[in-house]
Amino acid sequence: MRILHLEDDSLVAYFSMEVGIDPSIPTYSGGLGILAGDTLRSGADLRVPMVGVTLLHRKGYFKQRLDADGVQTEEPVIWHPEEHLEPLDVTVTLQIEGRDVLIKVWKYDIRGVSGHIVPLYFLDTSSEENAEQDRGLTDHLYGGDDRYRLCQEVLLGMGGVAVLRAIVDSSEVHCHMNEGHSALLTLALLEEHTKRRAHKLTQATPVDIEAVRKRCIFTTHTPVPAGHDKFPMGMVRSILGDERTDALQNVACCGSDELNMTYLGLFFSRYINGVAMRHGEVSRGMFPSYPINAITNGVHAVMWTAEPFKKLFDKHVKGWRHDNFYLRYAMDIPLADIKKAHAEAKADLFKEIKERTGHKLNESVLTLGIARRSTPYKRLDLIFSDIERLRSIARDIGPIQIIYSGKAHPKDWPGKDIIKSIYQSSAAVDDLIDVVYVENYEMAFAKKLCAGVDLWINTPMRPREASGTSGMKAALNGVPSFSVLDGWWVEGHVEGVTGWSIGDAAVPPEEDFSNEVDSLYEKLEKLILPLYYGGPYGYGKVMRSSIAFNGSFFNTQRMMSQYLCNAYFPLNNGEHHETLEIEE
Ligand SMILES: *Cc1c(COP(=O)(O)O)cnc(C)c1O
Repeated sequence: MRILHLEDDSLVAYFSMEVGIDPSIPTYSGGLGILAGDTLRSGADLRVPMVGVTLLHRKGYFKQRLDADGVQTEEPVIWHPEEHLEPLDVTVTLQIEGRDVLIKVWKYDIRGVSGHIVPLYFLDTSSEENAEQDRGLTDHLYGGDDRYRLCQEVLLGMGGVAVLRAIVDSSEVHCHMNEGHSALLTLALLEEHTKRRAHKLTQATPVDIEAVRKRCIFTTHTPVPAGHDKFPMGMVRSILGDERTDALQNVACCGSDELNMTYLGLFFSRYINGVAMRHGEVSRGMFPSYPINAITNGVHAVMWTAEPFKKLFDKHVKGWRHDNFYLRYAMDIPLADIKKAHAEAKADLFKEIKERTGHKLNESVLTLGIARRSTPYKRLDLIFSDIERLRSIARDIGPIQIIYSGKAHPKDWPGKDIIKSIYQSSAAVDDLIDVVYVENYEMAFAKKLCAGVDLWINTPMRPREASGTSGMKAALNGVPSFSVLDGWWVEGHVEGVTGWSIGDAAVPPEEDFSNEVDSLYEKLEKLILPLYYGGPYGYGKVMRSSIAFNGSFFNTQRMMSQYLCNAYFPLNNGEHHETLEIEE
């Protein structure tokens, strides 16, 4: 399927600090990286002229260990780029703190369904020629201090543009910033443009700025101001030097005391979007002077569909691999076949957990999945808010078991405490409810988990979940969500049809805690458990409609098509229209 025919030599360059492209390449930490990988995969499927740019992260993210009390420790993940990536014969230098830093480049080819290739470039500064302190700059994803992080962002943005110029020969490059980490690419483009027009970088004119803006697309992912990357101006000056820092200050995209990467991205972009309709609204409230659109995230359908469902779709929904919209017709799949495929995915998950932990779960028991990064706003432990009530539900209504997984960032102490508290709560219910916390959440296990549980639970504090994607992975595999009305679930939720809501979106979030907790227990007790243990196909119908309604829409093929017609090569000539607001 070719969405657009491009006359010129246009190219989309997608910049992301993390990319989850293959379970054996540990250069991602979570949702942002998985989204980047799925985006590039769908770009390849749709034959988009596209490349990806990221950093090598030679020491990977980290391997999580949990002791008997749920105390997390971290180990480096050793991986060998030469086993997975192709070294390119290209080197580029970039000035950081006045030193020349040599950047080497590695390539990974992402091959789409029809063979089209989207190359992904990994930048690497480990070269012997570099000063000692620069060799490790591309080692750790989200490691180190602010200075280290800013150096990485300079490498990704400015180094990334330099690498592109050395590799691709395209006059029309559209740069897509996946979050603010790569926003300094705008400075590199400004530099190119002023040079071409033979004036100094510090004397950039509105015409130069407009020329950069014509090239840039910015996706914001963070619904709270504190989540945006900022660096003190003194640090920026020492890393970037006077000319570049003065240029940033002259174009008035940052204040005198700090460089806010989000503002930089917003200022220089012709198209800006949030990652779900609700997140678009929240972002417009946060940045009222920018035209912010919304394109809701997705997941790569073939990548996240488990084997038994792939077989089922191949039989009943022919063409779904090339065109995910056909999944809408999953409504025609017999319920008995859905149940059978799900039972296989569940057995496969339980086998994996037995191998990893020695723990044996019961295949006939309603199994809840709760997995994501552990950090306070995600409230992984919300289901344990009232232990007595949870116990009585499991005792009186029907048995439950819970599978947890998720890492806390090494410096997120409250996030680590939540894991410990989950261990304590598990001990308090373990005569009635089997709870297992599986270490080291990563792509391969996520795939089995999202497909193999019976119900996917997500309980973030509104409006902090910009989108969320794991419920989409679950939906593709016929696993309904039971979630707080935030992010994508505001759109994907049809009560009792694609899953259930926790709490009431009409109640202001700050007053909603007890309401949400109440709703969680109430619906488990009165709706979900009775449906699951009731007649043979009641629950199966919800499973099937989550595939048909949500699997067919919340995928990156639909998302990429929307980026193509709204952001990359706009069919409306780039005019902004406020995307519709969703009513509950
Ligand atoms: C999908 C995925 C995530 C993101 O999940 P959210 O629901 O968006 O928080 C994080 N980690 C892994 C390993 C994943 O596969």
